[in-house]
Amino acid sequence: MKNMKYISTRGEAPAMGYQDAVMMGLATDGGLIIPEHIPDVSDRLETWAELSYQDLAFEITRLFADIPDADLRALIDRSYSTFRHPEICPEVQVGGLYVLELFHGPTLAFKDIALQWLGNLFEYILARTGGRLNILAATSGDTGSAAIYGVRGKEGMDIFVMHPRGRVSPTQERQMTSVLDENVYNIAVEGTFDDCQNMMKRIFSDVPFKNRYSLGAVNSVNWARVLAQIVYYFYAAFRVMKAESASSVRFSVPTGNFGDILAGYYASRMGLPIDRLILATNENDILSRFFQTGVYSLSDVVPTLSPSMDIQVASNFERYLYYKVGEDGACIQQMMTDFSKTGSLKIEMDESGRVDPLFTAGAANTEQTLAAIRNYFREYDYLLDPHTAAGIHVAEEVMQRESGSPMICLATAHPAKFSKAIVQATGKDLAHHPLLDKLSDCETRCAVLPAKESAVREFICELALV
Ligand SMILES: *Cc1c(COP(=O)(O)O)cnc(C)c1O
Repeated sequence: MKNMKYISTRGEAPAMGYQDAVMMGLATDGGLIIPEHIPDVSDRLETWAELSYQDLAFEITRLFADIPDADLRALIDRSYSTFRHPEICPEVQVGGLYVLELFHGPTLAFKDIALQWLGNLFEYILARTGGRLNILAATSGDTGSAAIYGVRGKEGMDIFVMHPRGRVSPTQERQMTSVLDENVYNIAVEGTFDDCQNMMKRIFSDVPFKNRYSLGAVNSVNWARVLAQIVYYFYAAFRVMKAESASSVRFSVPTGNFGDILAGYYASRMGLPIDRLILATNENDILSRFFQTGVYSLSDVVPTLSPSMDIQVASNFERYLYYKVGEDGACIQQMMTDFSKTGSLKIEMDESGRVDPLFTAGAANTEQTLAAIRNYFREYDYLLDPHTAAGIHVAEEVMQRESGSPMICLATAHPAKFSKAIVQATGKDLAHHPLLDKLSDCETRCAVLPAKESAVREFICELALV
């Protein structure tokens, strides 16, 4: 098989292989890294439908990754051995739809699916190149713990995770600081999440420093993360199509940085019969406005019950735009330059007034999110976390408007991670998980630093792997 090459959405970076794409994260011209072409797998769907999650992950990944088969199998098996469910991502029928539970990994959120894989992949690549990697991350909550669990105990890499001291939930803080592996450094910054993120950006823009300490990131733009997420769209679609004797499905996806739903878009382009991708946001609705109006324009971020969807600029959106404008790198370059000046960009709508017939978008506000949690608990005795609840709210609106193929709603976090919202919705403290309950008396380790770039740099210089 010919190895897949990777290029940039802005068309000005040299083509590279999968392993380089993974280590680089972002292309040298500032664009996002994408595969040179999208393989069509329509002729394989029937045989793939019978595969286990791991076997399916193997078949899909090998189309995109230059890793010998035996190594790839071992990496996949190791990555999903940490999941607590034999099917990795089981689907559950609840009322008139299916909930795809993506939260059976070590930190109880869907980000584990990609980050467990990414940690093993980094370790594999570093072992072969003899390199070192110091991962620097800033988190407002969820990503930090999934990244830490992906990297803990791995050879050849350290991880430094900054969070705003006292501004992440106690559960999220403990999920991170209770990890005592030697290669994990938690930093509580005396400032806001923006302070953390700005310090990270400034440190990464100092190229000599970045190179000297082999600094790397685990952002949701990393192609390895998107690729790992394509797998569960196939897996869930196969199982639901079989159960319902259906020939296609719809997916509803609670969306923030557009990473998760982008994987669904790739699955569709590869030939998986998806009738509709339903993009659900909370009040931070830049993406749902875009799919309704063709205009992508910034507004302020408001804090909501679903903090992992509280975003301003969706970091993976540029990949979708690239396909939307006919794979024209120069056009993307121009659009993104204009966007960074004006905070707005616009796409032509089709004759029927849509941006894209594959996508339907909607937003759920706080009340609607709480109502979905309350209703699913009362009617079906099933607890939704607030991110999943936003996706279900929008999916139900669509189902009322139009009949169609079976609906699969992605459940992106275990409700116990957001137990306060459950109390707010139901009046009862119902959402627990033994992994989280036992955190309260765990030993923790965390450094406290002022919100000063120099302090973070010194900390890294002293402790980073060189
Ligand atoms: C990250 C996250 C999302 C949003 O996913 P994107 O890929 O950023 O669109 C939704 N729900 C939860 C629980 C998350 O952690």
